[in-house]
Amino acid sequence: MGCSLSKSHNTKRLTKFINLTANTVDIRNVYAESQLEEHTSFVENLVKDILENVGKIEPALATDGLINRGSYYDRTKILHPDEYDYHPILGLSQYVTDVTNASDSHEDDGKRKIRINVNKLPYPLPSECLENINENDGEADLRTEELLNMLLNTISAVLKEMETRKSVKFYWSQNYRRSYKKEIDNVVIHGPSALLIRVGAPLGITDIDLCFCLKWKPHELGPSVHIIDRKNSWDIWLESVVELPNSDKYVLTPPHRKLFLTLKYLSNLTRLLGIVWQISSHVLKTLILNHQQKCRASSLGECLISIINELIVKPDDEHNPCDIPDDEYNCDEDFLYLFYSNLLIPNPIFPGEPQRLSPNDRIPMLISMVWIVQHIKLNRSNNWWNAFLSNNLIGVRRNRILQSLMDGLHEYYLLATSKSHGRYVKLEWQHDAKKSIVLIDCINPNYFDRPFRKV
Ligand SMILES: [Zn+2]
Repeated sequence: MGCSLSKSHNTKRLTKFINLTANTVDIRNVYAESQLEEHTSFVENLVKDILENVGKIEPALATDGLINRGSYYDRTKILHPDEYDYHPILGLSQYVTDVTNASDSHEDDGKRKIRINVNKLPYPLPSECLENINENDGEADLRTEELLNMLLNTISAVLKEMETRKSVKFYWSQNYRRSYKKEIDNVVIHGPSALLIRVGAPLGITDIDLCFCLKWKPHELGPSVHIIDRKNSWDIWLESVVELPNSDKYVLTPPHRKLFLTLKYLSNLTRLLGIVWQISSHVLKTLILNHQQKCRASSLGECLISIINELIVKPDDEHNPCDIPDDEYNCDEDFLYLFYSNLLIPNPIFPGEPQRLSPNDRIPMLISMVWIVQHIKLNRSNNWWNAFLSNNLIGVRRNRILQSLMDGLHEYYLLATSKSHGRYVKLEWQHDAKKSIVLIDCINPNYFDRPFRKV
């Protein structure tokens, strides 16, 4: 595909495809505004009710304010309004006396220690929540483990009571059941810090993530809160900036927002096609933000190809003494070579805490992204686009072209989970006249020695 005329034609088609996908999957085009409003006010009232009752049962956990977070509120939710995120602000915040960096790394990693004045608390906290108590001034480190347990137990009691009193139905979230040990009735711990509640709402079953937080002085970038983070030790809190400056570094521009919706949908579809690992929407957003700062593209098609390159592991002489080659993709050619490697993605807010992307989260997404680019480039017909947008496994299975994406992902999955033997997965996709080849080297002998590296 060396001819520049056809190249620009392909980029135009790719851009059209991205715009079509973004418009189709945006919940504001799937549901009427009034439906979304009714559904959202149901969820918001329920959350308000839950938090009021938490404060009644356990006054030490009373909240003072609620911050709306997540894709519904930042207008990047796709398909269904089935996920809402909140930061309830604990009333304990007013007794915080100091917040300090928990590590001495020279780049900020967002990890903090929090001191609280125990003498001033109107409702005492269990001793397990406190550490390094200063008997003179009553100040102590606030630990997170017992606090999280208290929240879990209290919310569980609240939901039980609400279910008997009101016509509201909570569901056990099966997906998370096996991954976490601490789970009570209808509440599970989700991710590093949130408590997940699954409820029947007007437009269907909806997940509500409550990530309780403490509010202190703002971060230099804007208002921030401190949340529990189970990935770290129980005496560490994580700062989260809740209002970022309106600049290209932190906020997606409208066209890149469309690219984000498209990639979220593609990541969803990759999961629907049988890959249990999934690149998180948080990582996708960071990848696009990193791209955005250097974007010189004249169309979204070019941006997509640049994101593929962000996901590719490039050589790093310093950390690559074993001479492992880098991943390769040149969209003018029809060949992709991938290694089973980790990738570190720079974090624009906390440079000391880059996001880690494992090969099993990275490679299936790359397969899906490259599949799109290659099929748009080398198949004249658009007749697979509708099946692609159907978000329906049966629709995909019935479509011969999309079936090749499913087969490719499945082949990778079998080797990555050692259900089939070999070192390479070789995917071949037949187009109108040409073939694309993706070769994945799954057994990287130096994988475990190889450090994470920055893009
Ligand atoms: Zn761009």
